[in-house]
Amino acid sequence: MLPFFIKKALFYTYWKGRMKLLGCIFCRMASHEMPAKIIYEDDQCLVLQDINPQAPVHLLVIPRKHISSLNDACEEDAALLGHMLMVVGRMAREHGIDGSGYRTVINTNAEAGQTVFHLHIHVLGGRLLGWPPG
Ligand code: 5GP
Ligand code: ZN
Repeated sequence: MLPFFIKKALFYTYWKGRMKLLGCIFCRMASHEMPAKIIYEDDQCLVLQDINPQAPVHLLVIPRKHISSLNDACEEDAALLGHMLMVVGRMAREHGIDGSGYRTVINTNAEAGQTVFHLHIHVLGGRLLGWPPG
């Protein structure tokens, strides 16, 4: 029986490899190669409704540029990241959750539960969100 942390590392390696093989789904959606319900897009990013929503409003703000995770963002991405946060604010207003409140989340790597290795910002709102997160 393998220890839990080794199983976790193996799963993580497998998942990253699988993603590489199939191609990045968010890149494919951003280039319209794969159909997606895009609710907003501009020259730098796009916004999708999460396929498995965890709140009445659950959006994903995704850069067109492939950046695997926040670990891989560099100085030249600063303006892009700032732009994505502006889009988060705009989406919150358009979905009527700016006043009630919402949470922005960027999961990075295994222990945070990142499953799609193309940077994205979750925007969650429309219900009371617990703290600390699980
Ligand atoms: P992560 O776990 O990497 O932080 O978030 C990935 C998110 O992408 C998850 O919330 C998952 O439900 C969502 N997701 C995965 N595949 C698809 C898809 O094909 N379409 C959409 N709209 N969301 C997806
Ligand atoms: Zn990508």
